[in-house]
Amino acid sequence: MNNPSKDYYAILEINRNASTNDIKKAYRDLAKKWHPDKNPDNRENAEIKFKLIAEAYGVLSDEEKKQKYDQFGICDGDAPNFSSGFPDLSELFASMGMGPNMHQPHQHQHQPQPQHQEAVIDITLAEIFTGCVKKLDIPINKCCDTCTGTGSKNKIKSKCESCKGSGMKTVVRQIGPGFIQQQTLPCGVCNQSGYKADKGNECGICLGKGTIKDKFLREVNINSAMDYTAQLCIRNVGNYNADMATNADIYLKFNLICPDGWKVENYNLIHTYKINICDALMIDTPHLYHNHINGNKYAFATKNNVIKDKDIKVVKGLGMPNDDKYGDLILLFEYIYPQTQLSMDEYNKFVNVSVSAPKNKDTYKLSEMIELDEYKQQKQHQKQHQKHQQHQQHQHQHQQHQQHQHQHQQHQQHQQHQQQGCPVQ
Ligand SMILES: [Zn+2]
Ligand SMILES: [Zn+2]
Repeated sequence: MNNPSKDYYAILEINRNASTNDIKKAYRDLAKKWHPDKNPDNRENAEIKFKLIAEAYGVLSDEEKKQKYDQFGICDGDAPNFSSGFPDLSELFASMGMGPNMHQPHQHQHQPQPQHQEAVIDITLAEIFTGCVKKLDIPINKCCDTCTGTGSKNKIKSKCESCKGSGMKTVVRQIGPGFIQQQTLPCGVCNQSGYKADKGNECGICLGKGTIKDKFLREVNINSAMDYTAQLCIRNVGNYNADMATNADIYLKFNLICPDGWKVENYNLIHTYKINICDALMIDTPHLYHNHINGNKYAFATKNNVIKDKDIKVVKGLGMPNDDKYGDLILLFEYIYPQTQLSMDEYNKFVNVSVSAPKNKDTYKLSEMIELDEYKQQKQHQKQHQKHQQHQQHQHQHQQHQQHQHQHQQHQQHQQHQQQGCPVQ
């Protein structure tokens, strides 16, 4: 066995069976300690140290180089070139997949990750309330049966030459005088998979990709009163992942389609209610009759107040479904009135067009409509109540804690008493 010219393990102050994480951690600590910028009084020495540490890490963090070094004590890795300056520490650690304050380095070397795919389904407001059946037609990459997903004729997965199977490539760029940036980017050659069929050995059907374009078709039932922010998950039907030999899960998200005059904000339904000026003023229609988008009919009590143009009123509990609750319905009133002055005939016509009360009044559910100010006050009240409850809970916990401490103290005192009671000879 050759004598290594440099003992990289000793340089990183680790032993020979250190794990990948130990190596990273050692490098991180030492690079921090010996970074030339951190040693202005001892810069020359620090530069030499820092270069050595970087060189050692360059070899020991590379699987192939490390193996060679461990076996033969030699390596073909040169010290990194810092002629244009030393990298900023945070940049350096970010390129290794660790933030400056992260003690647990996270592995960004190719670790198979359970992946998921997202798809969006359009759904109307009415469909949310009634439920519906949606036909899914989602493009996916499915496993190529001919090569069983390997991408090669002989069905053997070969490591990508470009990234050496890691799926990621480290790129060093000079981004200014005396400043380099190390960046780890997904490998474009193998599409991050880490595998790429050898030249000439590619599968003729998928052309070496291991997957072919396909569609996931299915009908899904959307239950009535679904939470529009919910994500539905369909397991193992999405893009094929050669690494894990599984298909990704598909997450379905809703895209709400709101008809004109309707909006949704935080489970509240906001409706621009165009009201004929005559209806708003008429005393014999104390109720406002409304066909809600949820399919029901409501009569809102107006408390005999005139509804003014641009008034905002609220009906609680008639908004969007949210678990077992509902948001609120917020009505923005807008007057409908003639754009020109009317003759008596035209005036009579205009008044007659106004909706007023429908014939089958009893099919309408009576609901209370409150002023925006009142609504805000109620909300404020609710918040305070919740806070109060939380506070009480907190206090209760605190009391329990104190009791516990008290018991603990008593216990200690008791023990002390006992000790004092029988002095050691
Ligand atoms: Zn690659
Ligand atoms: Zn194939």
